[in-house]
Amino acid sequence: MLTLDIPSYLPVMKYAEDRALRRAIYEAYTTRASDQGPNAGQWDNSQIIEEILALRHEQAQLLGFSNYAEVSLELKMARSTDDVMAFLNDLARRSTPQARRELAEVQGFASEHGGPARLETWDIPYWPERLAADTLCEWRRLDGCLHEPTHEPSETTAPTAYLVCNFTPPIEGLPTLLTHDEVQALFHEFGHGLHHMLTRVDYPAVAGINGVAWDAAEIPRQSGIEDAKAA
Ligand SMILES: [Zn+2]
Repeated sequence: MLTLDIPSYLPVMKYAEDRALRRAIYEAYTTRASDQGPNAGQWDNSQIIEEILALRHEQAQLLGFSNYAEVSLELKMARSTDDVMAFLNDLARRSTPQARRELAEVQGFASEHGGPARLETWDIPYWPERLAADTLCEWRRLDGCLHEPTHEPSETTAPTAYLVCNFTPPIEGLPTLLTHDEVQALFHEFGHGLHHMLTRVDYPAVAGINGVAWDAAEIPRQSGIEDAKAA
């Protein structure tokens, strides 16, 4: 039985050889709770979304903002909605040429290996994975690198951070193996953990990752990524 939760959805999109199955799961996933797709209208949330948007707009007006995006930015580093749009458009402009090069490479690989002449969206996670498996297969062992927390007897309360991960569990008798991407993800989240645990602020509501703007919280985790690259 396959569900549309990410731990079930992603492995199908990445590894299922059956193209029709990938398409069916992709269409079910991208149209869930809407008026489209295999369960069209059955659990359609469109009306609720419209209602939420209207209420958020009303909330923004009551608080003296012109729209909800401005309310959201109040607690973030970005200064204005114009800044956000300029950032996103600039990011798209800079990354599109590289994305086109990568797509052409994957399309070429798929054509040479019995894939479709034109890659569709439901082929995208699968064929890059095949290409990567063809060029590189590097795993790292997870077991043995996790330690029990050591408790400090002190008047201060040590901050606690949990990393909740979706890694594939070990198969009986075999070590737990992580792909390089999974190691990077772990170090990324560990960077958030360090940021949180190294706080010296006395008030929980503004300590650790609670003490910075939502988008600024992504800055310290970069050191985790750099550590992963060095490792
Ligand atoms: Zn992050």
